[in-house]
Amino acid sequence: MTGEGADESTADWAATVERVRDAVRRHSARFEHAIPLIASENLLSPYAKELLVSDFHSRYAEGLPGERYYEGNEQVDEVERICLDLAKRLFRCSFADVRPISGTVANMAVLKALADPGDLVGTCRLADGAHISSAAFGAFGLRGVKPVYYAWDDARMTIDVPRTREILRAVRPKLCLFGLSLFLFPLPVRELAPTLEEVGARGWYDGAHVLGLIAGGEFQDPLHEGCVVLSASTHKTLPGPQHGILLGQTDDAEVTKRLTSGAFPGVTSNHHLHAMAALAVSLAEHLAFGRAYARQVIANARALGQALHERGFDVLAPDLGFTRSHTIAVRVVREGGGEAVAKRLADAGIIANKNLLPGDTSPRHPGGVRLGTPEVTRVGMREKEMAGIAELMDDLLHRGRSPAEVARAAAELKAPFRGVQYCFGAGEAAYRYYDLVGHPPS
Ligand SMILES: *Cc1c(COP(=O)(O)O)cnc(C)c1O
Repeated sequence: MTGEGADESTADWAATVERVRDAVRRHSARFEHAIPLIASENLLSPYAKELLVSDFHSRYAEGLPGERYYEGNEQVDEVERICLDLAKRLFRCSFADVRPISGTVANMAVLKALADPGDLVGTCRLADGAHISSAAFGAFGLRGVKPVYYAWDDARMTIDVPRTREILRAVRPKLCLFGLSLFLFPLPVRELAPTLEEVGARGWYDGAHVLGLIAGGEFQDPLHEGCVVLSASTHKTLPGPQHGILLGQTDDAEVTKRLTSGAFPGVTSNHHLHAMAALAVSLAEHLAFGRAYARQVIANARALGQALHERGFDVLAPDLGFTRSHTIAVRVVREGGGEAVAKRLADAGIIANKNLLPGDTSPRHPGGVRLGTPEVTRVGMREKEMAGIAELMDDLLHRGRSPAEVARAAAELKAPFRGVQYCFGAGEAAYRYYDLVGHPPS
């Protein structure tokens, strides 16, 4: 196949379609046999997944329920109203907007609504775990706002409150973002709230990673600790579709109006109605099963940290039980550095990512790996399996066992855990390729 359209026959294009399907099927099979430890990934429930291939995918619904720009949206309105009610109920808050199509897009909506170009916005440094949204080459740069960095406490892996108070008083940012992609411990929102008020800054929480833990009542509760808005992805610890959300707790009608127009027309036109419908299902399922899920996710992360620590790995924050979230951070300089270790783990069927850690001197050579338990918990693993994963990593990275051998052992460990749990229709094959058409195209 050359990619030059004019020379290809229909049969060639059919073969191309089949190549794509085949690659996705192989991908699914690979994950079915792997130990997936990416902290930002998760699995959809079968009822949520079904909606992704519904006719909602084919439609537009610009505007809000009841005031759309196009006709034909009555059922979309019905579903979006359910989705909004569930979101407000789950987070006990007064405002929700389910139109941002991802966490980054939700962040862009907040920046558009609550900051102007040139404003100062408080955030953590990338090396301390912040997301690229708050980098000059990300959403901050796009909106033209300037970061003000909080002071960081390496040992406790959270914001240093006294030093950050001084920074806020000296610099007086307009908006203060609390959120991380390497999110081990709750951030001191409650402790800093009086200082924010004193300097006239609004609090904004980016809960992309920890949304499902917040909703499960097992982390912090930023909208009741002093933040006016919570932006997030809906597919990390909240095991929903790839989408975004805005949540707010404020009496200030001007703020909610600005957030609403930030979401649309600010940063979306289409809002991926199929994903919005799947989100409604995921929120209802989280109300039913989310507490038990969030508890086990955290228990598993702490168990994995402990087991790796006992096997000689340099897991961060040992004095604090390694984590209070779904994530642990492991400094792997002795094992060859973040990049080499993440690659070697992947060769052995353990999927994780290299990660910058506090104290790393070069952004291009991350000293650590980030490991997360949302997905392994979603398929039913518990503390015992976390010990098994630590043993596999020890075998691979300390005892010289080959990646191929460890991959076989990883597949064995995974074999009983291929059904999605903590949802309606539990036990449905988590990695199933939904083959709607069957035969190869012709
Ligand atoms: C993942 C993440 C995002 C962005 O999420 P997308 O849904 O992938 O756009 C935003 N903020 C933080 C802190 C994240 O970790």
